[in-house]
Amino acid sequence: MNKIIVMLGPPGAGKGTQAQLLVDRFNFIHLATGDIFRWHVANKTELGKKVAEYLERGDLVPDEIVIEIVKDAIKKALEKHPPCIILDGFPRTLAQAKALLDIISELNSRLCAVLYIKVSKDEAVRRLLNRGRHDDTPETISHRFEEYETKTKPIVRFFSEKGLLIEINGEQDIESVHREITTRLREIGVLS
Ligand code: AMP
Repeated sequence: MNKIIVMLGPPGAGKGTQAQLLVDRFNFIHLATGDIFRWHVANKTELGKKVAEYLERGDLVPDEIVIEIVKDAIKKALEKHPPCIILDGFPRTLAQAKALLDIISELNSRLCAVLYIKVSKDEAVRRLLNRGRHDDTPETISHRFEEYETKTKPIVRFFSEKGLLIEINGEQDIESVHREITTRLREIGVLS
């Protein structure tokens, strides 16, 4: 069965960095909704025009738009038969989390784990300000945290109750976080 894992955690937790290491070292496919949206904004597609303002403000893009995009992206990724697909930046709301479970069963796949990368807000903000992405201004960062706390945090409990949550200490150096992740993925048979 096709394997899917989710990377969860606040902005600045290192989800993208850790996902990229799994791509480089184990050929996983990394699907990041933020990257997909930024590509559409940069290329001024219809979707890009629809979502640009949300990204600019640090607001969440409406669920129905995101869910459609993710379903398509997972379908395309599965055609490449990767050992595992990592979702990064999705789901971010309870509605998205529930939709993901439907998509996954429809696509004959299995959600193996939700890696919850924990970092303090201070550390996350420090990293974001260093990263300096276009939407990493102090105002947007603060709004993205509010969105995270109110809309995304509830899905931690949702996945925990399903026995899928794996907590990772994100306040270590990049290689140590990676080692913790690969150890846990071996324990659950996602990596051999
Ligand atoms: P990220 O690169 O994950 O920080 O996402 C950048 C921006 O894209 C977010 O601040 C949102 O505006 C939008 N976005 C990305 N993923 C989602 C999602 N799953 N639901 C709603 N909005 C999203």
